[in-house]
Amino acid sequence: MPDLYLKKCRCPYCLKETDTKRVLSRHIRVEHTDMDGFVHYQGPNVYFYEPIQCSHCRFIFHEAFEKLRPDVRTLLETDILSMLPVLPFSATERSVKQVLYLYKLCLYMAQVTLQKDSIQAMLGIRISWMYRLLEDLEQELSWTMRSVQKYETIYLEYSDAVRTGIPHDVLLLRISDLYATLGDTDNAKQWYGLIFQSKTVSDRIKKEAREHWELYREQHPI
Ligand SMILES: [Zn+2]
Repeated sequence: MPDLYLKKCRCPYCLKETDTKRVLSRHIRVEHTDMDGFVHYQGPNVYFYEPIQCSHCRFIFHEAFEKLRPDVRTLLETDILSMLPVLPFSATERSVKQVLYLYKLCLYMAQVTLQKDSIQAMLGIRISWMYRLLEDLEQELSWTMRSVQKYETIYLEYSDAVRTGIPHDVLLLRISDLYATLGDTDNAKQWYGLIFQSKTVSDRIKKEAREHWELYREQHPI
């Protein structure tokens, strides 16, 4: 695996260091990016190496995970960790099916450990992208739908970028792009419209939204 290296990560549960594979930055080559932010890589796929399984305690996590609450730690210890499978491929090169399984377990751990909704939604999107790679359109769109619903909840309960975990204008663009991915013209139009009319959205996000909406209109003549 010449394109990968071992990175040390601290497990949020047992706090020990565990090794995980990562793509060497000099081998990261972007081919193109889909409207919803999914990056296609020419070389090794960076997304394949985001979920981590701790080699000491089995916990499966993402580097975005935050500190675990004491009650959550107790729950993990009594009910969850011993049930988790030990996945040898979590320490090696991974296939798309293997990483899909890891992402699902990682999302389950995010739910159990009460990670922010923005982290759970981010993992949901990655699951939809893995289905895109597998060309399983039905599963892909089902996960896109779940993710956009999660992001809408985040929008309704928004406080600030730090607490919510995502800047407000990025969130608006994310929801718009996901509706565009679903081919939901009414909702895409409405959410992109919010961006175009907003006085607080940055010029960069407005420009990106305009490009995405134009592309959508070309692909879906109304
Ligand atoms: Zn651990």
